[in-house]
Parts: sequence; structure tokens; C-alpha cells
Amino acid sequence: METSPSAQPAKPTAPQVTLTQVLEDYPLYRTWKGEWSAPGTISRDCKQCGKETTWKYNGSLSNSPSGSFKLPYYRCVNCENDSVYFLIVVLNNGRLMKAGQFPMPSVRVPNSIEKRLGASADFYRKALTSRNEGYGLRAVAYFRRVVEDKTNELIDVVADAAEAHSVPTTDVEKIRAAKNEKAYEDKLKIAAQAIPEVLKPHGANPFQAMYDILSIGIHTQSEEECLQIADDTREIFDYLFDRLRTEIAERSAFVSKVKAIAGKRGLRDSS
Ligand SMILES: [Zn+2]
Repeated sequence: METSPSAQPAKPTAPQVTLTQVLEDYPLYRTWKGEWSAPGTISRDCKQCGKETTWKYNGSLSNSPSGSFKLPYYRCVNCENDSVYFLIVVLNNGRLMKAGQFPMPSVRVPNSIEKRLGASADFYRKALTSRNEGYGLRAVAYFRRVVEDKTNELIDVVADAAEAHSVPTTDVEKIRAAKNEKAYEDKLKIAAQAIPEVLKPHGANPFQAMYDILSIGIHTQSEEECLQIADDTREIFDYLFDRLRTEIAERSAFVSKVKAIAGKRGLRDSS
């Protein structure tokens, strides 16, 4: 494990994570830099309510004499019938760690993703479980397997998106041709080069980002760094696999609708 002197300045690229996010979504045993101050509310899924609700800070069960343990608990504001308990350890180096959570963090794979994943859903679930339990290396391995299983599908989604954006057919075919590569890293690399500008939100190339993340040699990374790699992999995968697909469907439906309306007007107004 790497121990850094406390005077070392924070990495400028480190994303600003709030204590609320630590309670809501941080893996166990991953450390967070900052002072403990119980957030007033957090958001999370409530089993009783069957949806994401607001949970209110309801006190702390007890404090160890040294103050090095915090046991905050939260209750669902909606049903007032479900509680969640955390064990927060205050470390000596100005950092905190979520060392426990009851009930266990959810490993629910979003419905829209689970159906499409098919046989890979099990790997996705194991990736989430590993991540929530702080096993970064294992989480990365499972997420990489999911990406590998679904690379062709990701390429098709992006090619479909290109079509929906009226990208010329020859350029769309260049994207699809990436599927001819053998290794999934090569598929992503070729697809990254073929992706049109219109599918790079603010210049961000999702395939290039995915390729870059997959190229990180995890054998040299710490468990914590792997947790971040796992989260980054998941974010890009979910975007390509789920959100982009939904966008295409909405865009296509909208275009058809507008064309149908324009067609009717065209019949009336034709000169
Ligand atoms: Zn509830």
C-alpha cells in the first residue's frame, strides 16, 4: 500500500466527491479526504417504497470515546419504515472510510441494462458486488469481461446513432467494420477512429475513453485506483449500452413524427 505524506497536495484531477456521495455510493473501505459532518439527507433506493427516496439523518447510535468511529443512521422520509446504518472510521491522516453498511449496498443491475445483457448480467452483478465491497481489481476484471462480451453490440449502437444523425452510409459502415477485428481492444480502437464528430459530446470520444481505460495495466494499480477504473468503465459502458440507445430511439421517433407532420402539410401546401 502506498503511504503519502500528509503535506502532499491533493491531485488536481481528483474528482470532488461529497460526503453525501460517500454515504450513497462509495465502495466500502475506500478512503475519502475530509472531516466527518453527517449530511442532513441522502438519496437511496427504499425497498418498502420501491423507488429512490430521500433519507433523513436520524442520529448516531453511539460514539466511541476516541471519536474514531461514527455510527450514523438514516430513515426513509417517505415511509418512515426503513433505516440504513453506516460505520464510519475516522483515520489519523485526515481521511474517512465507510467500513460498514447495513443493509448491504444494493447490487441491483438497472432493469433496462439487465435485460439486454443476457448471459453477461451475472458478470455485471459480480462487478458491482466486488466494487461495493471494495475489491477494485476484481471489479475491473468483471467489468472488462462485460465490455468484451458486448463490444460488437456497443459498436452497433454507435453505428445506429450515427445513422439517426444522418451520417453518410460509408462512414457508418466504417464504424461497423470495427467488428471485424479479433481482439476487443482493437475493435474499440478502430471504432474510436471512425466515430463522427456529432457523436462526440463536447469533443469527448466515448470509444477512445473506453479504450484508454481498458489499456491501463491494473497489475500496477492500487485497489483504490482500481475502484475508480471500475466506476469509469461502468459509466462509459452504461452510457453507450443504455442511455445512447434510448436517445437513438427517442430521436428516431421524433424524426418520424416530424416527417409525418411535414408530409401531411406538404400534401396540403404542395405547389
Ligand atoms: Zn421508504
